[in-house]
Amino acid sequence: MANGELFIISAPSGAGKTTLIRRLLSSTDPDLADIAFSVSYTTRRPRTSEREGEDYHFIEESRFREMIAADQFLEWAEVHNNYYGTARDAVEPALAAGRDVILDIDVQGAERVLSQRPEAHSIFLMPPSYLALRERLRQRGLDDPDEIARRLAVSLWEIRRYRLYEYVIINDDADRASAALAAIFLEKRHRLERAEPAVSSLLEDFRDRG
Ligand code: 5GP
Repeated sequence: MANGELFIISAPSGAGKTTLIRRLLSSTDPDLADIAFSVSYTTRRPRTSEREGEDYHFIEESRFREMIAADQFLEWAEVHNNYYGTARDAVEPALAAGRDVILDIDVQGAERVLSQRPEAHSIFLMPPSYLALRERLRQRGLDDPDEIARRLAVSLWEIRRYRLYEYVIINDDADRASAALAAIFLEKRHRLERAEPAVSSLLEDFRDRG
């Protein structure tokens, strides 16, 4: 079986990345089935809506450091004063089993993964404007004003690095942005290399009956 492909999605905080990824993962289109989401490890405290093992694995900094020392991370970074890391275990077995894997990681993480795995596909999701991003951060009510100001300042640093990515989606409309993200996955899945096993069995069918 062919390996799955790795997809990196980054976006400034509040650009709508989590919603977009959830929509993709819950798609009923069979051509978008079986995408694995890599659940990261973080030292950040859980938000009220978040669940251990689904959104993140929430761990103490000492445990995070042990995982770094044991080389368990494909990449890790400090983001907004907390540590975040992608476990090799969340990625490598799924890829080997032929599943596509999504990494929701920041720009530093994307840079590190791309340097090790240049074949990974990378997507940068942008907000339509500064004011729209600020409004979204305020309305979602997850962060206090200081944290919002910090996230907005970081967003400029992140957006400036957009050239690292292969694809850009401007999230000015959630439906259109979702369709664009789905199109990227569909394009990869309809490539000849990926379609080959299905075509081989189709050919056999024709041979047997013809
Ligand atoms: P949040 O705290 O809002 O959930 O995430 C903050 C940022 O950390 C987001 O940009 C998110 O993509 C990034 N992030 C989440 N998990 C990882 C990870 O495993 N590695 C890296 N480098 N960034 C991550």
